[in-house]
Amino acid sequence: MAKITKTDDEWRKELSPEQFYVLRQKGTERPGTGELLNSKGPGTFVCAGCGNALFDAQTKYDSGSGWPSFTAPIEGQAVDEHRDTTLGMVRTEVTCAKCGGHLGHVFPDGPAENGLRYCINSLSLKKEAK
Ligand code: FE
Repeated sequence: MAKITKTDDEWRKELSPEQFYVLRQKGTERPGTGELLNSKGPGTFVCAGCGNALFDAQTKYDSGSGWPSFTAPIEGQAVDEHRDTTLGMVRTEVTCAKCGGHLGHVFPDGPAENGLRYCINSLSLKKEAK
């Protein structure tokens, strides 16, 4: 996948301060606040930074965590995963494979066969109708 590389100044011009904080500074939105938290119905969740298609709405479920949750990313190389040892925990960070934007984390307590829960900031996402 062709990567997108921009400076922080360029990102700041395109993103809201809240989006910049999450996508470019690995921030986390407050749980329960995301615009797309309770979004239902068909569509594709794309990266709010670059438009890369990340999650199909069919994989979205209510985890009760307060963040949009998915069982799997769209097939192919939509996201990258990285070991994250910040905050005294060992977690797996999920980033957009195209622009490197921080999306959230993946945890091994999901409801589907693969057992994964992609816990994603609503601020990192936009929903496109199908
Ligand atoms: Fe992106």
